[in-house]
Amino acid sequence: MEPRKITPDTLKRVIADLKAGNEKAIGTWLFKGYRLQVSRYKSSGTERSALLYRKRRDGGLCVRCGTKVTRKNPLTGTLYRLCDAHRKEIDRK
Ligand SMILES: [Zn+2]
Repeated sequence: MEPRKITPDTLKRVIADLKAGNEKAIGTWLFKGYRLQVSRYKSSGTERSALLYRKRRDGGLCVRCGTKVTRKNPLTGTLYRLCDAHRKEIDRK
């Protein structure tokens, strides 16, 4: 995961989230040339992928590759879970 450059204000927020036990603190942050990695200690692979899934889903990204999803499901009016390429892949199966 590429670290995200953050400002002092964002750093404060990350620390506040960390203190509160908020999962929003989780991430890889770049601050003044230092990399801060916040992740759960000894989290299982399934937990990690569930977290990634939720992060992508909440961000409107394809849960497989992280591409921005623009198409909505006409039935539900919500964004698809997958990008066009991955949706086609699943349809073919
Ligand atoms: Zn995809």
